[in-house]
This record gives sequence, C-alpha cells and structure tokens, in this order.
Amino acid sequence: MDLIIGSHVGYNKDNGLLGSVLETLSYGANTFMFYTGAPQNTARLPINKEKTLEAKKLMEENGINISNVIVHAPYIINLANRANLDFSTNFLKQEIRRCEELGIKKMVLHPGSHVGVGIDEGIKNIIDGLNMTLESDMDIKVCLETMAGKGSELGTSFEQIKKIIDGVKLNDKLMVCMDTCHMNDAGYDISNFDKVLDEFDKIIGINMIGCIHINDSKNVKESHKDRHENIGLGTIGYDNLINIIYNERIKDVPKILETPYVENSEGKKVYPPYKYEIEMIRNKKFNTNLLEDIRNHK
Ligand code: FE
Ligand code: FE
Ligand code: ZN
Repeated sequence: MDLIIGSHVGYNKDNGLLGSVLETLSYGANTFMFYTGAPQNTARLPINKEKTLEAKKLMEENGINISNVIVHAPYIINLANRANLDFSTNFLKQEIRRCEELGIKKMVLHPGSHVGVGIDEGIKNIIDGLNMTLESDMDIKVCLETMAGKGSELGTSFEQIKKIIDGVKLNDKLMVCMDTCHMNDAGYDISNFDKVLDEFDKIIGINMIGCIHINDSKNVKESHKDRHENIGLGTIGYDNLINIIYNERIKDVPKILETPYVENSEGKKVYPPYKYEIEMIRNKKFNTNLLEDIRNHK
C-alpha cells in the first residue's frame, strides 16, 4: 500500500514552495503541509513564480502529488469571534487565493474559539464567516480541523462540525481534517479507530475526510489540552497510531505529522523528528531509540 505521508514543513521567503519541497524530500516524505507566511501575522510576500515552477518540477520527479499537499490557515483567523469577522474572512479569502496561485487544493482551518459567547453563537459565527469567505469560483477544499477543546475551541465533536457544514451554502468546498491528538484530547477513544470512523461516517460521511494529522498526545483522553507528542511516546501510543495510519478505509487521505521538534542539551527544540518518525512508520516497527537517533542525526 502506498502511504501518503509527510509533515509540517517551513515555507521561507527566499525559496518559497521550493524550500518546502526540498525539506519534504529530506524527510523521505511524499507530501507536506505548510503556512504560506507567519501564522501569527498578516505579512505576506508575493509568490515567486519561478521558485513555484521549480518546486512543481521537483515534486513531479519525486512522486509528490500536489493534490495531497496541504496549506494550514493562519491561526490568527477566528471565525467564531463576531468582532473580528471582517478581518478573519478577508484574510482567509486572501489565503485561499494564495493557495490557488500555488496550485494547492486543500487548506486546513481551525473552526474557531467562541471566546465567551457560547457554543451555539460561536457556531453561527463560523457559518456566517464561511459564507462570507467562500466564493463559487474558488478551487479549494477548506478542511475543518477536529479540535481538542482547549479554552473555548469549537469543532470538538463530529456533531459540531456537521452543524457548520450544514449551515454553509457552498459546502462542496468543505472537508474535514482529523487530528489524532485533538480527537484523543476531545474524548474520542481512537484506540478503536474503526468505531470512530463508523461514527464519523454516520454523522458526516467518510468521504469528507480530506486530511489526517498524525500526532501522539502528552495528555490523556478527554483532557482538552492539545499538546502534541512524538509518535509512540505519548498516551495514544505507537500501535494505535500505526493502526490509524494503515487503516484501509482512509488509505487515500494524506497523513501529516505535527509532532514536536526534539530538544538539544540546552533544552531548545531544534531537531525535526520527521525523517525518523516516517522511517519508523514505514518500517512498522517502533524505534526505542527515537529521541537519541534524532539528536545524533543517525
Ligand atoms: Fe491545526
Ligand atoms: Fe493538527
Ligand atoms: Zn494541535
């Protein structure tokens, strides 16, 4: 089975998409996810057409299908907050157009945090926000991410996500991004993933899964914390994550790692774990020396 797997990678101002592809290849991955600029601000440089063409050529040569590549929407966008809806929708629109310029077909979006107005009002705001953002000519699937429930986050259950989808007029442009850490922290028992998929299928439809973030969790089920852990080192564990990654029912869905960088001797997170984690996923064998191997670049 051909695994579609990659990780979060950088997108720097000099090399743009080309840098992201080179980083991806260094991890032995065949897809990737990136922010098109700093996620915490709105500063964006124009897209370098030459670098983008070079990147696409390199992707083609290495079997990276651009339809599996994901952009993550900047997290300063909060559609659940009515006070910032104009800002959020304008910026999101702009980001979707940037995706189109790059040829990216899927964008992951955190549904939003209601910041005090309550779940129903928050969901209503998200629906309005998406209706204000989406336009019929947009060639994009906005994948609503399943959230852990930290603070006042929405999208913590399949029912909430279904409600959002149902309220959006152009909902053929919506899909869902599952996140294993978030689902665990939200209270889903993902050690029985087929049951979770059954439930998702009944409520939303399994063909609506556009992306899966593969992360272990530092916290127990239903903790509502959202702290990612390296594969096999958290409460979800290696075997459960492998069962999800190799589940036949979602074999065509891109799997993206967002696990934390590993610390050096001074406690700074400097070493990307992805090459080692991907290797250990492909081998179907847990690497008991994972962190040491990452630190020693073995
Ligand atoms: Fe996310
Ligand atoms: Fe995620
Ligand atoms: Zn997270």
